[in-house]
Amino acid sequence: MRVILLGPQGAGKGTQAQQLAEQTGAKHVSTGDLVRAEIKEGTELGRKIQEYNDRGELVPDEIIVEMARPHLEGDGWLLDGFPRNEAQARTLDEGLSEMGQRLDGVVALEAPDDELVERLSGRRTSQSTGRIYHVEHDPPPENGPDEGPFIQREDDAEEAIRNRLDIYHEQTEPLKEYYDEQGLLVTVDATRSIPEVTEEVLRALGHAAGAGDQKGES
Ligand code: AMP
Repeated sequence: MRVILLGPQGAGKGTQAQQLAEQTGAKHVSTGDLVRAEIKEGTELGRKIQEYNDRGELVPDEIIVEMARPHLEGDGWLLDGFPRNEAQARTLDEGLSEMGQRLDGVVALEAPDDELVERLSGRRTSQSTGRIYHVEHDPPPENGPDEGPFIQREDDAEEAIRNRLDIYHEQTEPLKEYYDEQGLLVTVDATRSIPEVTEEVLRALGHAAGAGDQKGES
């Protein structure tokens, strides 16, 4: 399965991609994770892209395309955070047709900006396990030396969040129309619980969750 997860920051693309990867065996490819790994390694490229990341700006297309390319060659993937604008979408289309592959679907996760800001500004990540918490809804364990320290991403600071959402609305959201015209788009309400959203995504993509056919009343 080759699927793009589209949606604003904080809509849960990464969380959903992890769930879907477990359930379908497709590989989770997050360009944001690739960017953060490069920065953490302190490579020359990492230093170059850090300022974009920390300000919540997009890394230049040529760089991100080169970073993503080797990860797109496998059998199946769930793309999280790529493409982010029409130029990247066109580059992806071209790359896929060169490889003789095609997209199976594009899932747009939708949630209002106010909720996204609230989710992102409270987000904390365990430095050792990568597990994500929320200061109010899922607080990091106190005195938990196994998982701490709990870090706030540079780009989860208020100003960077607003910047990222503005860029999303300007540059990424128009991709919904781009993929809708190709008959690939499905939209899912991302304000519901994590398992409900996963189930809805699988249903929308036509992969029934679980083989057991539980016929309900409805
Ligand atoms: P994310 O975790 O997806 O929010 O990505 C974190 C940061 O990585 C973004 O704010 C950008 O600086 C960079 N980045 C990730 N994916 C892309 C992309 N497709 N195009 C440009 N920059 C990206």
